[in-house]
Amino acid sequence: MPKPGIDERDEPVRVVDGALVPEDARLERSLRPKALDDYVGQTKHKENLRVFVEAARRRKEPLDHLLLSGPPGLGKTTLAQILAHEMGVELHATNGPVVEHKGALAGVLTKLGPGDILFIDEIHRLNPVVEESLYPAMEDFRIDVMTGDGAFASAIQIPVQPFTLIGATTRTGLLTAPLFSRFGHIIRLDFYPVEDLARIVRRSAELLGSPIDDAAATGIARRSRGTPRVANRLLRRVRDFAEVLGTGKLDASIVARSCERLDIDDAGFDEMDRRLLRVIIEDYDGGPVGVETLAAALGEPRDTIEDVYEPYLLQQGYLGRTPRGRVATRRAYEHLGAPPPAEKAPPPQGGLFD
Ligand code: ADP
Repeated sequence: MPKPGIDERDEPVRVVDGALVPEDARLERSLRPKALDDYVGQTKHKENLRVFVEAARRRKEPLDHLLLSGPPGLGKTTLAQILAHEMGVELHATNGPVVEHKGALAGVLTKLGPGDILFIDEIHRLNPVVEESLYPAMEDFRIDVMTGDGAFASAIQIPVQPFTLIGATTRTGLLTAPLFSRFGHIIRLDFYPVEDLARIVRRSAELLGSPIDDAAATGIARRSRGTPRVANRLLRRVRDFAEVLGTGKLDASIVARSCERLDIDDAGFDEMDRRLLRVIIEDYDGGPVGVETLAAALGEPRDTIEDVYEPYLLQQGYLGRTPRGRVATRRAYEHLGAPPPAEKAPPPQGGLFD
């Protein structure tokens, strides 16, 4: 059993990490919106999904297969659950690496009822053999199973109920082309603007029964790295400080005090973000530095750097990506109070990931 505050990697949980840790799971269940109307922001995607749901319901067909991409904590699982609710069907959730072989996939697929949704998180991590056997299921609602050996081997086809596959991935670039092309809809979730995060914080505070003013909601939102999961986690931490050190009411001053105690700065960066920028600036002269080198210097897996830390720093223009590696931008130097390199050309102003 993981200890509270410790994730599977046996490391202290970063408040500003978008990845799900066991501690979140309990509370997330109570904070998760159940209907599209309660899902804050992502308006364009939401309105399109509303049309697709309505059209599928009228035709009495399942929704088209849907791929959701975006960094951890942006609401992919939530959206899958909402779509199941809106379609009035069951959601069967699993995870790419958990479906270890074809038999396991067949087991999952044959349990689906008509129109049900199969949600596969981290779909880019499916074993290639399992992935291939998913294709006929997605296209023709059947699975091909081999029986017998050698000369007596033959393929039998097992029908499955018409269903919707919702795949979630942190980066669409990690999917194979054949899998990618089988999705009818592709939705890339973006980081949330501060106003949307503030709405999420107010909604969650209400559900938790904690009085909060607008300045506090905005203060938490500004430090949440564009990520609803981080906003909810930070809200819970601030609530702890407010209840123990303050009056229980969440206002701007308790938010500032809590963030100072948690070592989260005004941009929402914690020690890890600052270390990443500092390594590039101080140890590699501002970059470019390859992601493998960065991973080794920080003692973190490459995937974690690419999926969890980098996207927000890139989106906010603190990091730039070049073919030769990552570079710190002027904004990063300014944020850390480091003097920009004198003799080098001015660092580039950011750059977006895929
Ligand atoms: P992902 O699957 O992308 O890692 P989740 O769907 O688990 O992210 O979302 C993390 C938490 O953030 C959820 O429990 C939910 O409470 C909250 N959340 C995510 N998106 C929204 C949203 N658009 N509106 C309100 N809350 C959200």
